[in-house]
Amino acid sequence: MRSNVRRAENGAVCIYGPGTNFLFGLGSRQGRVAVAASARFGEGAPLAERTAKAAIHETGHALGLIHCRNEGCVMLYSNDLVSFYRKGTSFCAHHRDDLARLGLG
Ligand SMILES: [Zn+2]
Ligand SMILES: [Zn+2]
Repeated sequence: MRSNVRRAENGAVCIYGPGTNFLFGLGSRQGRVAVAASARFGEGAPLAERTAKAAIHETGHALGLIHCRNEGCVMLYSNDLVSFYRKGTSFCAHHRDDLARLGLG
């Protein structure tokens, strides 16, 4: 996916792609690259956890993982802050198995 970068009002870097106002991050299996953007996650203590959650999700994509329907799984697709905040911070059993098959479990 082609993506672009711009600055939010608070000066933080935002990334976005075609048809999106912003992305929480972007991960690609091709090239095994992942990036997370913290611009939309507010300030204070939750910022680190939210940014880490985005980084884990995008790193999962870079390793070849796909989206999940399990709301507790960090690989759940989320396109708004409410669903992003609600999902878990770790991988479900299915995705842990996928990581184990890759030698990463
Ligand atoms: Zn995703
Ligand atoms: Zn999962």
